[in-house]
Amino acid sequence: MENKKYTIKCPQCGTPIEVVRPAIINVQNDPSYKAKVLTGELFHETCPNCGQEIQVVSRIAYHDMEKRMMIYFRPITSQEELKTFDYEAIRSAIEDNFKAPGYGIRVVTTVNELMEKIKIAEFGLNDGVIEIAKFVYFDIFVKQFDGIGVVNIYYERRDDKNALIFFCDDGNTRSIVIDPKIYASIEKRFSEVVNAIYTSRVCMVGRDWALRMIKAYSKRDHQGADEAEIQPEIKLVTSEEA
Ligand SMILES: [Zn+2]
Repeated sequence: MENKKYTIKCPQCGTPIEVVRPAIINVQNDPSYKAKVLTGELFHETCPNCGQEIQVVSRIAYHDMEKRMMIYFRPITSQEELKTFDYEAIRSAIEDNFKAPGYGIRVVTTVNELMEKIKIAEFGLNDGVIEIAKFVYFDIFVKQFDGIGVVNIYYERRDDKNALIFFCDDGNTRSIVIDPKIYASIEKRFSEVVNAIYTSRVCMVGRDWALRMIKAYSKRDHQGADEAEIQPEIKLVTSEEA
């Protein structure tokens, strides 16, 4: 396994800490790393001097040959990184470097997204369907929990069922089990795009993506717009077009 070494400073006491991280994780060659990502252990450092616990994120390519998933983790941890984040450059670099048919190739920018993509693949689900399902269940959630704001929604496996966990602005989490019938109906209705994201296109499949797909389909249904308008490809948008 190819490792990268670099030094950070403890935010508490200033002691230099050497961080050793894999640049590529191949799950089949080193299965223990999957658990290390899923528990967050991989991104965790402890200062040898003062014992401060620090989360240190680093770029990683996560490769699961069996599930045909390649996830590029390109962390954005500051406003500065967000400004300079060049998705098109990342995408073209990946397309030059990684060529394999029938893959789900993703770019994610947070540890939570990375974990979520791995869990979704683990249970044989389609992450495009899950992202669209979040919008469907958000509407249900708002009706049920009137007045409670939602900060984030993540997929989780709960009691052998697929669920969405709502992180709320009152500090609590609430979960809703995904009805298999709703999952199937989303998969059917959005079949073109949810299949296309598993054909080795490089994609960011998140909230923006789902929103664009929902809008594109609804436009097509209501105005008879061209099918050509529906593209599974993603561009990082800072402002959402109507
Ligand atoms: Zn320290």
